[in-house]
Amino acid sequence: MRADLCRKMLIVSAPSGSGKSTLIGALLQKNPNLAFSISATTRPPRGKEEHGKDYFFLSVEDFKEKIKQNAFVEWEEVYEGRFYGTLKSELERLWGMGKTVVFDIDVKGGLNLKKMYPKESLSVFIKAPSLENLRERLIKRGTDSPEQIEQRLAKAKEETSHESYFDHVLINDDLSKSQLEFFEIVETFLQKKESQ
Ligand code: 5GP
Repeated sequence: MRADLCRKMLIVSAPSGSGKSTLIGALLQKNPNLAFSISATTRPPRGKEEHGKDYFFLSVEDFKEKIKQNAFVEWEEVYEGRFYGTLKSELERLWGMGKTVVFDIDVKGGLNLKKMYPKESLSVFIKAPSLENLRERLIKRGTDSPEQIEQRLAKAKEETSHESYFDHVLINDDLSKSQLEFFEIVETFLQKKESQ
């Protein structure tokens, strides 16, 4: 019974540049019962990202070895040659601590998790008001080459076509407004699950 109560998850998917990381960061700061699931990836660290904090940065060989060992709850080749995945050990570690686990995950992975954990999870899709707005944000962020930006925009277009499969769609046009809406959605979910 107690283990059941702890097995909650918040799945957050969004095209990159839609403000997802900022919203997740604010949410984690607000609620200490939530914990971020650190994914494994084969992409190199960006900016100030740290191994074991933002991601577990693995070589392609190590990542493939873990696939063979069945170490992932889910994994995807999100961009060509770039693998991302949720390690079973990470999920167990956080659930073991009694935390509600928060996932920053691509749409395919997010919908897969939702299918695996339909009752335990709340899935939220965050999007920028428009593709043009997203392009501007990615250019401003300054962490991707023009080619990578085009790749991310193509992916964003594809991902947005699946938004209706999520429990909630949040349009991030005004950060403080979106933050409040996000907090409310999550709070309602946590209360509902806790009272069951
Ligand atoms: P970024 O390179 O911008 O950090 O992440 C690229 C994409 O990979 C984002 O959509 C992010 O949500 C997704 N992603 C991060 N971790 C995982 C994971 O463990 N599994 C899957 N399927 N996608 C992930």
